[in-house]
Amino acid sequence: MSDCIFCKIVAGTIPSRKVHEDEHLLAFHDIQPVAPVHFVIIPKLHVASLAECGDEHAGLLGRILLAAPKLAQQQGLGEGFRTIINTGKGGGQTVFHLHAHVMGGGGPLPFGHAGSKSHA
Ligand code: AMP
Ligand code: ZN
Repeated sequence: MSDCIFCKIVAGTIPSRKVHEDEHLLAFHDIQPVAPVHFVIIPKLHVASLAECGDEHAGLLGRILLAAPKLAQQQGLGEGFRTIINTGKGGGQTVFHLHAHVMGGGGPLPFGHAGSKSHA
C-alpha cells in the first residue's frame, strides 16, 4: 500500500529503529513509547487490521505472537511484557497496517489502556 506508513518502513523509505527483521516480520521501536521498552511487530505483508485477517493469515498471526516473547526477552523484558493489538478506530488503531505492540520495563504496568496515546 503506497500511502501506508508501515509499508514505507518495510520498504525502507521511512527510517525505523529496528528490533528484528526476517522474511515475514519486521519489529521496530515505537516512535512515541508509552513504556520504557515499546516496540511493534508487523507483518511485511500489508493487512489493515486484525479484523481484515482470514484463515490465510493464521500462520502470520502465529508468527507475530511467537515473536513477541522472544523479542521481548532480547529487549530486556524477561520479567514480562504487555501485548496489545488495537483494532479499528473504536479500538484505538491509528495506523492501519496490522501490528502488535509489545511494552514493558520499569515495573508492573498498570491495568488499562496502555498503547492508546489518549490514555497513556
Ligand atoms: P495504533 O494506535 O495501535 O495504531 O499504533 C500505532 C503506533 O505506531 C503508535 O504507537 C505510533 O506511535 C506508532 N508510530 C507511528 N509512526 C511511527 C513511525 N514512523 N515509527 C515508529 N512508530 C510509529
Ligand atoms: Zn501497510
